[in-house]
Amino acid sequence: MKKMQLTTKIFIGLALGILLGIILQPNPDIASKYVKPFGTLFLNLIKLSIVPLVFSSLVVGTCSMDDVRKLGRIGGKTMLYYMMTTAFAVTIGLLLANVTNVGGGFSIPVDAKVDIAEAPAIAETLLNIIPSNPLKALVDGNMLQIIAFALIIGASIIGIGEKGKTLYNFFDSFAEVMYKIIGVIMQFAPIGVFALITPVVAVNGPKVLLPLLKLILVVYAGCALHAILTYTSTVSIFAKVNPVRFFKGISPAMVFAFTTASSSGTLPITMKCSEENLGVPKSISSFVLPLGATVNMDGTAIYQGICAFFIAQVYGLELSVGAQLTIILTATLASIGTAGVPGAGMIMLGMVLQSVGLPLEGIALIAGVDRVLDMMRTMINITGDAACAVVVSATEGELDRGIIDKQVVVSK
Ligand code: ASP
Repeated sequence: MKKMQLTTKIFIGLALGILLGIILQPNPDIASKYVKPFGTLFLNLIKLSIVPLVFSSLVVGTCSMDDVRKLGRIGGKTMLYYMMTTAFAVTIGLLLANVTNVGGGFSIPVDAKVDIAEAPAIAETLLNIIPSNPLKALVDGNMLQIIAFALIIGASIIGIGEKGKTLYNFFDSFAEVMYKIIGVIMQFAPIGVFALITPVVAVNGPKVLLPLLKLILVVYAGCALHAILTYTSTVSIFAKVNPVRFFKGISPAMVFAFTTASSSGTLPITMKCSEENLGVPKSISSFVLPLGATVNMDGTAIYQGICAFFIAQVYGLELSVGAQLTIILTATLASIGTAGVPGAGMIMLGMVLQSVGLPLEGIALIAGVDRVLDMMRTMINITGDAACAVVVSATEGELDRGIIDKQVVVSK
């Protein structure tokens, strides 16, 4: 009998998890007490690999752009793709919010009180990118700083030529070890996905979701529209890749992002799928994807655009065209500063609201359903990273089309 593919097993884990979640809705405590720990254990295993993986693979990725011109070219293409698609994403979000009148007919529940963590200012976010203490950045898992440090080390290894070889080999071997660890952890993904989704469904029953159903539907629709419009077109026009194959190849990572709501946590799987299903070479995936998991968040940007509009409407405030353009700019920047962990986008939403003078308390309205929104936006976030990796590889003439054509989909 043919061995079942890991992707299929992950989907089955998801379906069973949702089913059990629905069954346990009357007693969500059972899900939180007895099922969630397995999910947490699995997530910890994944988390263990994130910082070492991002750092080592980004150093190796940077070094493999053997000359500085190539590094500049690929870096430029990547950032251009990330910024353009993110700005486009917020625009889609805002258009949809306008058209659907997302906050219309919603009245403010009196008990909506939540402690809102303060979002950092834009300037602070940008200044913080360079770590004054790189080891602290590694220990704290500060991804933007880790990226900056890895890029500096990688570029300097290229800079010293032959003498840098030893360090390069070290990181190369280190990254391989991380891939190996992740490969083993991935075998448990179906159980992990199952255990992570069950409590989410059980806790977020219809009672929590129904009042904000319209907002949820609009955010989901915005994300789906962005995937269909932006990724389908960029992947087919610039990379000449069949979009169905693209989505099929990245689907295990999408499911994983949906259940964990963490781009960083999904990074190992995004890399694996991009390389083994979509033909992205390691030299490009190890540069574009760790960067994307931290700075490229199209789903988050869509969410921030729609939520800002929603909050304005609920508070009876009019958002002028100028204010909406400001939202496009700040949401693009805010999504760069958003960490790839659950809930980070909601904190950065504060920055977007502040930029157009909307009340921060509005976040409290959304907080109850944020997890459900987070799952969808994270799924879009990582899909955007993979689309960029495919497009950049194709434009560099380095996409392995043979892999896409005989796509077997990651199984080990
Ligand atoms: N959870 C999202 C991610 O990891 C970030 C967010 O909260 O928007 O991509």
